[in-house]
Amino acid sequence: MNIVSTVNEVRYAVKEWKQNGLKIGLVPTMGFLHEGHLSLIKKAVSENDRVIVSIFVNPTQFGPNEDFETYPRDLNKDVDLCREAGADLIFHPEPEEMYPDGFCTSVNMTGLTDALCGKSRPVHFQGVCTVVSKLFNITTPDNAYFGEKDAQQLAIIRRMVKDLNFDIKITGCPIVREEDGLAKSSRNTYLNPEERCAALVLSKAVKLGVQLVESGETSSEVILKQMKEVIDNEPLARIDYIEIVDMNTMKNTDTIKGDVLCAMAVYIGKTRLIDNFIHHAD
Ligand code: AMP
Repeated sequence: MNIVSTVNEVRYAVKEWKQNGLKIGLVPTMGFLHEGHLSLIKKAVSENDRVIVSIFVNPTQFGPNEDFETYPRDLNKDVDLCREAGADLIFHPEPEEMYPDGFCTSVNMTGLTDALCGKSRPVHFQGVCTVVSKLFNITTPDNAYFGEKDAQQLAIIRRMVKDLNFDIKITGCPIVREEDGLAKSSRNTYLNPEERCAALVLSKAVKLGVQLVESGETSSEVILKQMKEVIDNEPLARIDYIEIVDMNTMKNTDTIKGDVLCAMAVYIGKTRLIDNFIHHAD
């Protein structure tokens, strides 16, 4: 496995692979890898001849008061995990490599990016769309893999690929959870033991929502009310948002019809965590 930090080095490796007719998979990450990331990498390894994992804490997707500086980083451990999972190349650029002096272009989307996380993180998705576009152009993969943990991001990337004619197949992968239900996240490391326990309200609410939908409940209002109750019962939890939206438009939907996303962001102490479930049309 190769570890490179420049765009040219990636292009060099990719050119050779393409000359040999090899299929390439990309897994974009911000590092501090866990089982969630590894599920994407393993899926990519099973479907491609070569797999690139990008590890880049992208400054432009963090707001001014967010955790860019403190975001956890551990490149050595990430390298070991990528090697074990069967990746072929790690792209680990410095911010200056991605955003050299004079950089002034961005990929902007309307609508999908204004809902849910976009409301409380106004610059986030512009940063995501721009960096993912750059990674797509740098690595020119056949396939790219994203987690359903970030369901809005996945919907946005699918839309961007369609709108901008990227010739890349996007695959979504299910949420990987801790044994007790908490969705795996690099940000879980911010939680102290008491908060770690309180954080279970997200997955508990998700579980309840899934049960209600499976038992035939179709009113978003009824489902959200019960889910909110679970979260509000936890003193350390503060809801940023909890909504049920159409999976394709991210617009609120009163009933469970078609492909819908029930998504939430909840502060546990100072840590903002997200979780969700997706219900597909029968
Ligand atoms: P991040 O490093 O947080 O930017 O995540 C990189 C990719 O891994 C994104 O596509 C995430 O959706 C995905 N991912 C993160 N956590 C999980 C998880 N618990 N289960 C599945 N995918 C995940």
